[in-house]
Amino acid sequence: MTAPRPDWRNPGPAPTEGPLVDTFGRVASDVRISVIDKCNLRCTYCMPAEGLPWLSKDAILTVDEIDRLATLFHRLGVRDFKITGGEPTVRRELPEIVRRVCALPDVDVSVTTNGLLLDRLAAPLRAAGLRRITVSCDSLLRHRYAAMTRRDAFDALTRGLSAAKEAEFALVKINCVVIRGENDDEAVAFARLARDGGFDVRFIEYMPLDAEQAWERGKVVPAEETRAAVAAAFPLVAETQDSPQPASAYRFADGAPGSIGFIPSVTNPFCGTCNRMRVTAEGSFRVCLFALEETDLRAALRSGADDAELERLVREALWRKWPGHKINHPDFVRPARSMSMIGG
Ligand code: SAM
Ligand code: SF4
Repeated sequence: MTAPRPDWRNPGPAPTEGPLVDTFGRVASDVRISVIDKCNLRCTYCMPAEGLPWLSKDAILTVDEIDRLATLFHRLGVRDFKITGGEPTVRRELPEIVRRVCALPDVDVSVTTNGLLLDRLAAPLRAAGLRRITVSCDSLLRHRYAAMTRRDAFDALTRGLSAAKEAEFALVKINCVVIRGENDDEAVAFARLARDGGFDVRFIEYMPLDAEQAWERGKVVPAEETRAAVAAAFPLVAETQDSPQPASAYRFADGAPGSIGFIPSVTNPFCGTCNRMRVTAEGSFRVCLFALEETDLRAALRSGADDAELERLVREALWRKWPGHKINHPDFVRPARSMSMIGG
């Protein structure tokens, strides 16, 4: 007879060995590490125009601390590492951080960036061992890009994308958050960009993680609607996926390069197969993007915790992971932090 599944609200002690699991049997194998909270854009769906109270330099994890946590996660079975922020490229030490994470055996590392600084950073990041990069871009129209990011930075973005191409990353993804009435008429234009440039475009549903709390359900464009718009212009073929992925990915039926994916975090959450964890810029460990609880790994690191203690903190937090976010439930509570402070 199999033992009953522990109740995640009061689950008792976490397993002390084996894969990183929660009480639902989900194995955590992907960690997103934020390396800075600051940003050089002010995307309306993420940050306020005036920015946020930034962390002091002492508050954010040092390169050695990030390296130590990445090595620990690797030992615990994590192979997918995303380096994010805030805007990771505004951290001077980014190439060194990337070099250290990429030096771990058998890892898949990517950086998520708004791309503005890639004209000078694409080559150093590539040289540091980075093979995949994700560039966020929500409009291909200069005036609209400026309105959505509150900065006149379209030229920097296009230079950054060209630099990423020239640096010959194995994969360049483009993340596009689709917002009703703002950029939902551009899905086909993004699909054309994917085809012409050989990019993997990922359309993301707008989530209630904007600092200004302007999110409304009516502004969410269901991924299925975006997919139908693209498929009407360019027939799509679903890609087979080895493991459950949040993004359903498609290639073009006519064999054109590039791919298209849809991340339906609101209309069809992937919580049941979620394998993700996050570490914020100041070292707080989060087991869900929408988590209301955090575990302070920085305090442990700075008070001399050994790896066994750090592992215990990670395992205990994961063991208490809830079944999933409650965006679609009446009792949904927004996390206190917004996207740039969590690390998307
Ligand atoms: N600054 C980098 C960037 O923009 O790519 C990395 C950090 S950003 C927080 C990571 C991703 O989160 C971006 O692709 C961004 O579009 C996405 N994002 C931010 N706020 C969001 C929201 N409210 N809903 C959905 N995605 C969001
Ligand atoms: Fe900055 Fe990225 Fe947030 Fe835009 S989405 S404000 S680029 S952190």
